[in-house]
Parts: sequence; structure tokens; C-alpha cells
Amino acid sequence: MFPTSDYHTHPQGHNVRPYTIDLLQPWIEQCLAKGIRSIAFTDHDRYAAGVDFSVIDRLRERNPYVKILAGIELDNDPSSSTDGLHWVEKNWERLDFVLGSVHYFSGETEMLDRAGETAQIESRGISRAFDQYVQELEKLIARGHIDCLAHLDLVKIHGLLPLNYDPANLFRPILELAKTSGLAIEASTAGWRKAVGEQYPHASILQMAVELDIPITTGSDAHSYVQVATDYERLAGVLAAAGATETVTFQRHRPNRSQSRFEQSHSLDNSSLQ
Ligand SMILES: [Zn+2]
Ligand SMILES: [Zn+2]
Repeated sequence: MFPTSDYHTHPQGHNVRPYTIDLLQPWIEQCLAKGIRSIAFTDHDRYAAGVDFSVIDRLRERNPYVKILAGIELDNDPSSSTDGLHWVEKNWERLDFVLGSVHYFSGETEMLDRAGETAQIESRGISRAFDQYVQELEKLIARGHIDCLAHLDLVKIHGLLPLNYDPANLFRPILELAKTSGLAIEASTAGWRKAVGEQYPHASILQMAVELDIPITTGSDAHSYVQVATDYERLAGVLAAAGATETVTFQRHRPNRSQSRFEQSHSLDNSSLQ
């Protein structure tokens, strides 16, 4: 199964760069080049001012062969996420897909995932840091207004792991909450570009998600269009090893499994003709 959707992308990068056709069209070209049939734009909620739904509508008209989702990555930023949540509530009907992310430990004002910044983990002790990260995920799920949990075990980003770490055991309660809350989880290639050198989430967490029948999306966390679908061949192997036989697409917050199954078999048909 080759994943055919990229549901974690940042066209604005780390700024407000208002959506224009010029900004977004290269992302669609990259989808076409890489066999991606569905893309979600999921800029950080702190840059929501740059999201323009009318530009996305025009982009859809120009590009009927790629399913384009209006999305956002809503996190737990202590300064911006209250406004972000209001923005999501206000625009819920125009949004297709909302990623939920924990980027902050409670009481911190800097993101936990900045490159090389291990002090927040070390000062807590690695094991306590992982526990606190999981508690923030519980709060994020309880707050609601999300469709999918992004980079579920992001706290491992720096490659610091608790002694005798059992990822599936630590994250089982979160997967069970995702299940009862009707959330999907994301399989992301971004971890391969970080110190940890591993996809999100760990293979054992993915396997448990499959066993619990939790829908799985795929994403690159691209901050440039050239990163769309980065390392998807490798991700396909990880998903297969975890027992995942399908990924899920979304439209207006509704997951659609049968369509992604069709798209995958369709793409297999195409490849067998080549
Ligand atoms: Zn993130
Ligand atoms: Zn992101």
C-alpha cells in the first residue's frame, strides 16, 4: 500500500504568509509528481490569519485531480491556542480537517520540539517528561474540536527515551481515548528528519492503533512543497509491518475509509499497467 494522501503540510512555514494561488499551486504540482491524490493544508493555528478559504476554493477549481482539504494544526500554545480554538470553532463548517498537537509542556512558553533544545526534557527527568506529555494529550483530546492527533509521540523527538521505555504501554490510554472520541491518528515521516530518527508514532503504537481499528492518516509535516510525501516509500513499509491495510481520507471532518481503499487499489491497478 503506497500512501496517497499528505495530511500535514505548512504552506506558510513559520510566518503569516497569506494564501494565494502562487503560494499553494506548487504544493499541488508536487502532489501530482509524487502520486498524492489528497492534500490537507494544516498551517499552525497561530498563522490562521493567512488562511483564505476562497483561495482554496479557486485552487480546487484549477486542480480537479487532487482532493484539497482546508485544515489547521491546532496546538496547546499557552498564548495563542485560545484564539486558535475560537478560530476553529468559527470556521468549523469551512474546515475539512483539524490536526491536534501537543507542542508545549504545562507551564512552558517555548515549544518542546525545537531542534537541539533538550533542557525541558532533562530538567523534568525523561520519564516524567513523557508522562507530562501524555497528560497534555489527554487535555487536548478533552478540549475537542480536532479530527486527528498529529505526531503522537513527538516527545521522543530529541532521541531521549525513558529507561525500559514501552511506547505501546505508555500511549495505550491515549489510543483508547482517540477511539472513544472518534479521532484518527497520523503516521508521520517527520521524525526521520529529527534527532530521534524514527517515524511518529513508534511501530508498536501504530500496531496497537490497527488492533483498536483507529483510522490512520499519513503526513510529511512539510514546511516546503518539496517535502510533500517525503519518505513515503519507507512509511509504506512501516505501515505494512504494523498491519495497516488502509489509510483514511477526510472531507468536512468525516473520515472515509472505503474511498481510500478504492484509491489504493486504483493506484495499484495503474502501477500494474506500467
Ligand atoms: Zn506539530
Ligand atoms: Zn506541523
